[in-house]
Amino acid sequence: MKSSKVVLIRCDTYDRERVNEAVREGMSLLGGVGQFVQAGEKIVLKPNVLIGSNPEKCVCTHPFVFRAAGTVLKEAGVELSYGDSSGFGGCQTNMKRGGFKQVADELGIRMADFNKGKSVAHDKALLNTSFVLANGVIEADGLVSVSKLKSHGLTRLTGAIKNQFGCIPGIRKGQFHIKMADPYEFATMLVDLNTLIRPRLYMMDAIMAMEGNGPRSGKPKKLGVLLFSSDPVALDAIACKIIDLDPAYVPTSEPGERAGLGTYHYPNIELIGDKLESFIDKSFEVLRKPPASVTGGPVRTLLKNQLCPKPVIDATKCTRCGICVKQCPVEPKAVNWYTGDESMPPTYQYDLCIRCYCCQELCPEGAISLKETLLGRAIFR
Ligand code: SF4
Ligand code: SF4
Repeated sequence: MKSSKVVLIRCDTYDRERVNEAVREGMSLLGGVGQFVQAGEKIVLKPNVLIGSNPEKCVCTHPFVFRAAGTVLKEAGVELSYGDSSGFGGCQTNMKRGGFKQVADELGIRMADFNKGKSVAHDKALLNTSFVLANGVIEADGLVSVSKLKSHGLTRLTGAIKNQFGCIPGIRKGQFHIKMADPYEFATMLVDLNTLIRPRLYMMDAIMAMEGNGPRSGKPKKLGVLLFSSDPVALDAIACKIIDLDPAYVPTSEPGERAGLGTYHYPNIELIGDKLESFIDKSFEVLRKPPASVTGGPVRTLLKNQLCPKPVIDATKCTRCGICVKQCPVEPKAVNWYTGDESMPPTYQYDLCIRCYCCQELCPEGAISLKETLLGRAIFR
């Protein structure tokens, strides 16, 4: 018996009308927007904005996908708002830079408060029993998540489940990287966040995805598909199938299924719409190996240094902006101007580094990439 549905709709372009048509078709094949929201409800739309950038760079959900989702929800009679809290910079600025504010203003969608939040208990959590959620999420009756398919150093893939990390306001996100430095603990926390928020519907923009040095500095890659589901574990698993990645290597998959959030086992997933096989791209650049499980303690720290890819700075791209230093969540900082010369790129002290990859994610120049260690390459081939 198939327990979850994922809809795939071919869409080869960001042409506004074609995207509108594809989103309508996707929602309709999933049972209609009325299955997920009721007229009069307060719904918050959550794109992946990161720090906002030109849509052509594929860092953010494309604003026209956001527009199409907003249009369908508005037509359903909901009171719509939108928001995302990025790792760096103000929400307003990031929303403008990514083209979301302009679209939202046209549609008459209000920006929700994702700068500040309140603590919310999660009694049924697997691991993390309380979260500070953005006020805009708490005040809404429900959330619709519109993610972007991108490669990711820590979680391999950033998609439906990871998108909700932006519901935690501001720098509080960095604290999770310290508290849950092990990628499997971090992933379990992301699952808890999703079982707390329980988004009504998950959409994914994979018309143009990001491969390689994602989630910010990778290369755009055309996949030509929009995905829709009420099960984010299944949606991410089908995205994995498209990029030829074993979903068991995505650390949210197993706890996601254990928490009852969904399933990553293909036989349990009903596919609707265009044929999955027509989207599979085996050349997509993504780390096709499980993340190493490493946490604190001297032996594990040694193991982490030997096994996990290291962030490295390309001096030819670095503008010495200092964002990586500012965003590094550990104290003392694992990346800093240890040479004392701020006219040179910062340098790493890898024994302090918890491999959260916030520096790589937020470097505006794409100057930081992840370099596999010799041992890590040998073990996780
Ligand atoms: S964030 Fe990037 S560009 Fe800025 S100092 Fe760090 S490595 Fe250099
Ligand atoms: S140096 Fe980079 S990867 Fe290491 S702890 Fe700091 S932000 Fe995380």
